Amino acid sequence: MSDNYCCPESGKTASTVIPMVCDHSGRNEQDRSNELILCPACQKEGDHVRNVTVRHLVKKELIARAGQCDYRICMNEKCDVAYYSENLSIVFGKEDLKVPLWYKEDASPRYACYCSRITEEDVIRAVREQNLTEMNTIRKHYDPEAKCQCNVKNPTGKCCTNTFKEFIKKALAGRSNKK
Ligand SMILES: [Zn+2]
Repeated sequence: MSDNYCCPESGKTASTVIPMVCDHSGRNEQDRSNELILCPACQKEGDHVRNVTVRHLVKKELIARAGQCDYRICMNEKCDVAYYSENLSIVFGKEDLKVPLWYKEDASPRYACYCSRITEEDVIRAVREQNLTEMNTIRKHYDPEAKCQCNVKNPTGKCCTNTFKEFIKKALAGRSNKK
């Protein structure tokens, strides 16, 4: 199954894409990645995101505020919070990021792949006009040199494969009942 993913080692540790400011200090004092920590705004459970991912995605002037700690990402489409630190002392709203979070209800554009900047519209076009239905074919169609950097480009820090496939599925479904 792993060879269907765009990241050779999906979910594994980051490779060095740009210098990782926080890596010399080692891990957090305690690993809280399995702990349940709720979003301070909507009280829904957030997914663990490493500090390096957050640093790559918040606006330049906010990077210093991100500190060294790990974060949670709020996956609630209606909530304005993007990231919150595990001790809840730092919160970044979705407008604090350089890119929109694809699943938030007002996201525009909606990126299927943040590495190659392929949007939902691009996926729909590839499916309907080019008859492409495989993620990797679509990715190559738009970005022949595509390199996967999901660990720092995707806001979740994880591989975009599942989201990408959802967009393809949606595009295919829309194709049959012609818009
Ligand atoms: Zn929230």
